Amino acid sequence: MTIKIGNKSIDPTKIICLGRNYIDHAKEMEAQIPKSPVFFVKTVNTLVTNGNPIIYPKLLYNDENYNRVDHEVELACVISKTCKNIQAEQGYEFVEGYSVFLDITARKMQISDRNINLPWYRSKNFDSFGPIGPKIVPFDAIIDPHNLNIQLKINGETRQQSNTKHMIFKIPDILAYLSKFITLVSGDIVATGTPSGVGPIQPGDTIEASITQIGTITHKVILGE
Ligand code: MG
Repeated sequence: MTIKIGNKSIDPTKIICLGRNYIDHAKEMEAQIPKSPVFFVKTVNTLVTNGNPIIYPKLLYNDENYNRVDHEVELACVISKTCKNIQAEQGYEFVEGYSVFLDITARKMQISDRNINLPWYRSKNFDSFGPIGPKIVPFDAIIDPHNLNIQLKINGETRQQSNTKHMIFKIPDILAYLSKFITLVSGDIVATGTPSGVGPIQPGDTIEASITQIGTITHKVILGE
């Protein structure tokens, strides 16, 4: 699926997301600190660009067992070229650039599925649950991607505020690890996990997610079908 982010078009085949990659977020979820990266997949139907709405599905909104949808702001890497079985020292060669990503999550559904040993898949992959943008900043324009302030506001109020230096696994190690299992290709998106402060969104909310040196994406939450 081709998607235009800022002035650049990419053709991602998948979005790989890290779970529990900030110590403070692992703690707030009462999860173990992982010994190696924990990852899962989002599908490309989730992607929406800056300014487009996040759709809160009625199926979730009208069901008290499922009516919590959370924001997770994350630094995303866009992959530059085919990446398979690489070494961490080569990692940055495979980064086209960086963007702001929101890993929107149907939290109650995720937790209830996990509690009966089902995958997280459906809770992560509703349409519009992967906002990205506002542009792809070339990798060489950011000297240290692990020293960027990362922030999320709802209706102007700060909910997440951290720095990418608090990531447990850094980008080159993440790409080396992922590439053992999955062939990443040009345009694929790797989201590097969220800091603490995740919480619910509601129809009518306006979400602003920002990373210094990249920019801000702004999305209204609307109730869908
Ligand atoms: Mg996440």
